[in-house]
Amino acid sequence: MFSAPQPSSPAAITLSVVIPVYNEEEGLSALHQRLSTVLDGLGCTAEVVYIDDGSRDRSAAMLRELAASDPRVLVLGLSRNFGKEIAVSAGIDYAHGDAVVVLDADLQDPPELIGKMLEQWRAGADCVLMKRASREGETWLKKTTSSWFYRLLRKIGDVEIPRDVGDFRLMSRRAVDALRRCQERTRYMKGLFAWIGFPTVTLTYERDARHAGTSKWNYWRLWNLALEGITSFSTAPLKIASYIGLFVALGAFGYSAYVFVKAALWGDSVPGYPSLMMVVLFLGGTQLLALGIIGEYLARIFVEVKQRPLYLVADVQGQGPTHLSAVPQANPGYVAVAR
Ligand code: UDP
Ligand code: MG
Repeated sequence: MFSAPQPSSPAAITLSVVIPVYNEEEGLSALHQRLSTVLDGLGCTAEVVYIDDGSRDRSAAMLRELAASDPRVLVLGLSRNFGKEIAVSAGIDYAHGDAVVVLDADLQDPPELIGKMLEQWRAGADCVLMKRASREGETWLKKTTSSWFYRLLRKIGDVEIPRDVGDFRLMSRRAVDALRRCQERTRYMKGLFAWIGFPTVTLTYERDARHAGTSKWNYWRLWNLALEGITSFSTAPLKIASYIGLFVALGAFGYSAYVFVKAALWGDSVPGYPSLMMVVLFLGGTQLLALGIIGEYLARIFVEVKQRPLYLVADVQGQGPTHLSAVPQANPGYVAVAR
């Protein structure tokens, strides 16, 4: 399962550009023109994978025309709108390249930067992240909520998700293969990109305004994406619930003991109150405890069902004792990766 070493002559490598498209008829031809010029200049074999994410405008027809006129183009038409995260996953599945670049269709990510990204990849980086230099043109509310979200995710999440980095990035073949092994259904791509690791370089760029059309993200979709990010990469909310349960239950048992002792020593001034109180507190407390225990198991089941690889190996140094055969591939998480 060792991936082939990267060939060094530029023509021998292939580059895939993955572009999710949802109702982008106004900007598509401009995008393809700019991208083609860039790809012609790179001098390597390239393919462009467009994913039509169930567009309701002329995008699908335009993509079909592009596929007919440009042999570099592969178009995947999804059966309906699945959302950007899944569209990107589909495109990555179909990309053949030694290096794969993910690009938005609205020309907010300048294709001219692909050359620079390839340079970093040739220098050994597996992931080249493109970081927005500024978030101009965004509302104060969006900037603040986004900053809170990243701070929270950094505190409670499993992986560090870089700020101001979108899906515009380059990934090496082995990074793509690693990503494809993450088969979870709820796909928070930014989290998965960060989860796979591997040598990563970050470049800064000026994000342009949308070429045409409008953003498909509203606050409701962003809120749901944020929830997806937190619940896919953290079991903290479940754990918080179980600790709250534990503390409330302990308090309930404590208070119940107090009511009991008080009644035993001084008698019950309100007949029935101590016994009633004790029963209510005991039942409430045990229920919360039981919920907490269920929460802990649920958190573990949740981690298991994601079926992520246990680990990914970036490289192996040395040969080990030569009388033993090659590194055993016992664990399905093993991705062998000589460069
Ligand atoms: N997109 C998609 N499916 C969707 C929504 C968006 O494939 O359901 C694509 C869209 O066509 C664009 C990219 O995802 O190429 C980014 O979308 P958008 O520009 O609306 O997001 P923003 O730049 O505002 O984050
Ligand atoms: Mg955009």
